[in-house]
Amino acid sequence: MTGMARMKSKNPSVKSASSAVKHSFDSDMAMHRLRHRAGDFRGLPPAAIMAAMHVRLVKSFGFEAAHDLPTFPQGHKCRRLHGHSFRVDVIVEGEVPEDTGYLIDYGQIKDAAEPIVKELDHRYLNEIEGLSNPTSENLARWIYDRLKPALSQLSAIIVHETCTSSCEYRGS
Ligand SMILES: [Zn+2]
Repeated sequence: MTGMARMKSKNPSVKSASSAVKHSFDSDMAMHRLRHRAGDFRGLPPAAIMAAMHVRLVKSFGFEAAHDLPTFPQGHKCRRLHGHSFRVDVIVEGEVPEDTGYLIDYGQIKDAAEPIVKELDHRYLNEIEGLSNPTSENLARWIYDRLKPALSQLSAIIVHETCTSSCEYRGS
């Protein structure tokens, strides 16, 4: 005789009560998942939200480079050769697996992004293939297109040209 069968024969109401609780929990979780997919988190207990956590991770890199911007109006200061301490934010996005509790190792982002950032460091950007017009916009796309094959969860690249000016590119 199994444990459950013993329990049933001793006290049938125990099994039916626990079955009712389990059924209620399962249907609650199914509803939570449907609502989560629809972006509706109202009334969800914290545990249910954690079960399908969507996150964005940001890892930042820096490089120094010179450029001039040939499409700006004649006489504009950005047409003159000048330099920036650029910052690049690499953003990855996705669902966190429940078993690991993390989306991706930050070291994996570093391994994928660092070689690309090194190609830009201490360069005259206009001389790099694909960057003859190295605006922040074109630079963000240039980095994104090179990084995406190695980092499938890549969601966006933000190029900070100065402390107060930046461009975000999320793919085409
Ligand atoms: Zn500039």
